Amino acid sequence: MARKFDVPEYYRSKIISTVKEARRLDDPRKKDLSPSILDFGQVQYLIARHFGFCYGVENAIEIAYNAIEENPGKRIFLLSEMIHNPSVNDDLRRRGIAFLRTTDGRQLIPFDDLRSDDLVIIPAFGTTVEVRQTLEAHGIDTQTYNTTCPFVEKVWKRSEQIGRDEHTIVIHGKRTHEETRATFSQARKHAAVVVVRDIEEARLLASVIDGTAAPEDFASWFNGKTSDGFDPAKDLQRIGVVNQTTMLATETQEIASLLREAIVRRDGSEAALVNFADTSDTLCYATNENQNATYALLEEQADVAIVVGGYNSSNTSHLVELCSEKMPTFFVQDAREIHSLDRIQHFLVEEGKLTITTDWLPTKRPVRIVLTAGASCPDAMLEDVLVRINNWIPPERAIDDVLKPFSNGLLVA
Ligand code: SF4
Repeated sequence: MARKFDVPEYYRSKIISTVKEARRLDDPRKKDLSPSILDFGQVQYLIARHFGFCYGVENAIEIAYNAIEENPGKRIFLLSEMIHNPSVNDDLRRRGIAFLRTTDGRQLIPFDDLRSDDLVIIPAFGTTVEVRQTLEAHGIDTQTYNTTCPFVEKVWKRSEQIGRDEHTIVIHGKRTHEETRATFSQARKHAAVVVVRDIEEARLLASVIDGTAAPEDFASWFNGKTSDGFDPAKDLQRIGVVNQTTMLATETQEIASLLREAIVRRDGSEAALVNFADTSDTLCYATNENQNATYALLEEQADVAIVVGGYNSSNTSHLVELCSEKMPTFFVQDAREIHSLDRIQHFLVEEGKLTITTDWLPTKRPVRIVLTAGASCPDAMLEDVLVRINNWIPPERAIDDVLKPFSNGLLVA
């Protein structure tokens, strides 16, 4: 049975958590990816089969709240954002936790201000070898409240293995993302490292591998994205691909195939078995599940999608990307951004900015709304969205009736 974490009750939700739990009990092997439909009459919500808090996030939240409870009177710091969700981070701040750095690595409190009896929580993304060493040099215990997700550590271990096998490590990720910075730092202990952000960059790398581009092009294309002294002539002979766990899994697979094919073109298929390390086992289960559940969700007819999560959440923006291909999609941080049935504030991932859209919700009834969230979003925030919309489109059915298909002897109040 999956481990249960002690997460504050206010992150759970009567409606959403009930649906989730019922689906989990009905389908423990997670074979059914079809969405859950909450039919209130004039409005129907299609809720993804998998979304919201993952193992790594619940583990991190449990450890952080335990740290507060177990250490009254102590100074407690978070190395940076706990997870990419502003409401969770704000709650931790309110409870007295101070943040040492911003999520992009800008220092807010100098490490030199730390005392050896301070407590520092390492976030779920993990941290770099250098930061850990700095903390330890200040006498900080970096183990007790280390919330690095085991699935991120798995990527580090796999990087170590392929590095020991004399393969260069290609990281599919965003170079400035905390997790990629951490994985880069861990990986370069064992091998040369290069980061590719997307298919386009993977194609450039493939062209250097198969010789259709000159090695000199590599330096300008991958400036700032390699370990020191990276030599494309030598360091692209044998490679393996790992990823930032929250990237699009299908994209990681496509990148791996592209690079493998480039090696086949250069060395032949037999040599490619040696020169290309199979690392498909580093994909995170939660990212996979959430993305696969989103693909299943998109097979349904719906009018709009609302995706809830922090704007800087990588896994959430990928869900937005998937939904946007099929229907008008609105990426909101919380329910307050839905100003009315006519006006919504939402985040544009590509442009990196907020915008306002009017007449965002079709007037047809019933209207079908896809509702989902990334791995760092509490169920309660999804419920807030549902309740807010229901305040404007009054339900024709009582909540007990709506939840009946999900009762399973569980909470139906
Ligand atoms: S998304 Fe995956 S790797 Fe990231 S914290 Fe969750 S379980 Fe861990």
